[in-house]
Amino acid sequence: MTENKIIIAGAGLVGTSLALSLKRTELTIQILENHLPEIITQSHHNTRPISLSYGSVRTLKAIGVWDELEKFACPILSVHVSEKGKFGFTTFSATEQKVPALGYVVPFSQLQSALYHQTAAQKNITFTAIESIEKIKCQANGAIIYFHSASGKAEIKADLFIAADGTHSTCRNLLGIAHSEKNEGDIAQIYQLQLSENHNHTAYERFTKLGVLAVLPLFEKNKMQLVWTITPTVAKKIADWSDDTVLKFLQDSFEGRLDIMAAQKSAQFPLKITLAEKQVTESAVLLGNSAHTIYPVAAQGFNLGLRDVTILTDTIIEALKNKKNINDLSVLKKYEERAKKNQEAIFFITNKLTPLFDLPLIGGLRGLGLLSIDLINPLKNKLAKRTMGVAK
Ligand SMILES: Cc1cc2nc3c(=O)[nH]c(=O)nc-3n(C[C@H](O)[C@H](O)[C@H](O)COP(=O)(O)OP(=O)(O)OC[C@H]3O[C@@H](n4cnc5c(N)ncnc54)[C@H](O)[C@@H]3O)c2cc1C
Repeated sequence: MTENKIIIAGAGLVGTSLALSLKRTELTIQILENHLPEIITQSHHNTRPISLSYGSVRTLKAIGVWDELEKFACPILSVHVSEKGKFGFTTFSATEQKVPALGYVVPFSQLQSALYHQTAAQKNITFTAIESIEKIKCQANGAIIYFHSASGKAEIKADLFIAADGTHSTCRNLLGIAHSEKNEGDIAQIYQLQLSENHNHTAYERFTKLGVLAVLPLFEKNKMQLVWTITPTVAKKIADWSDDTVLKFLQDSFEGRLDIMAAQKSAQFPLKITLAEKQVTESAVLLGNSAHTIYPVAAQGFNLGLRDVTILTDTIIEALKNKKNINDLSVLKKYEERAKKNQEAIFFITNKLTPLFDLPLIGGLRGLGLLSIDLINPLKNKLAKRTMGVAK
């Protein structure tokens, strides 16, 4: 049996970010991944862009991957949030907030690849290609992970085990952690939009009767990506729409704010919300989508996972300084308590609790407005009060 300090299951965006974030601790880290090497080659076919908040970019700079990504990044200089048929809109701008950009849009493939290559270059981090994880035995003083790989069965001991294996997490089940799931059959349809003019680095979020339209500016200045979140009823209604009908709907929806010349559907994703009943157990932590999966309407899933990564890293470093074991349940519970505070504010907004957001400015914090949530303290406080049910 090999001794290891931290074992991470999953070399996705969150697993690799945690490994890199922990590099300054010099702990030994081993990542088990069941899609190696495909996650790197396949990610190049995943052309969907991902939007990173201002806070996420700061973290990516700190862990050494931003230099590689910056050349593909499109800055978001303003966010425009509005509702069709309702008067008024809300905008946030980088100038107002006195920051270079509210956030950035990067290709998913480049982000995954930059994180993977930077992780692989670290001396204290190794990757192991596995086929499956069969059993996880967690105790107060460590975890044993039993897995299958091409060379047969193996087991490995970790002081701390991190399950970063995504929404359908096998590890969450093996750890015996229940989760709640809300699956109403909603879908995210992805379209590439061609504009007749420059997008001016503006992102849009438009609430319509046929779903939420979230539009991100892309590196090419006359191209944008639309994530259109729809219910099954809307999906049925638009199923036989021609390309021209879709285009006309989008043009009408934006009422001249965006001069869309063409819209081409590139992908679609089934959506569900999942939330683990708890995020820590003896010597183990659920991280990223395995702990919580939210709708992409707010472009926040990875941003939230990355915030958890920072909180976990800080908690581990604090434990090491105080000569505490990193698997001490009180340490892990401290992490969970800290992470949940941030998660709750984001869940509250993304889980479609729209009636609570009547105030125009608070309403603007829905969705893409969240890109700037970490920059707007008075509003954040108002939102927190409302979340706690103490808003006047
Ligand atoms: C349409 C869409 C648009 C989005 N846009 C945004 C956006 O703009 N901004 C944003 O912040 N977020 C966005 N997200 C969310 C974001 O993509 C996810 O939150 C993020 O990818 C989750 O990362 P993860 O590492 O937790 O999980 P995953 O990316 O799912 O990675 C899990 C990894 O674990 C591996 N794995 C699985 N099972 C095992 C096992 N048993 N053993 C070992 N390895 C295993 C997988 O192969 C994978 O590599 C979007 C999501 C969707 C669907």
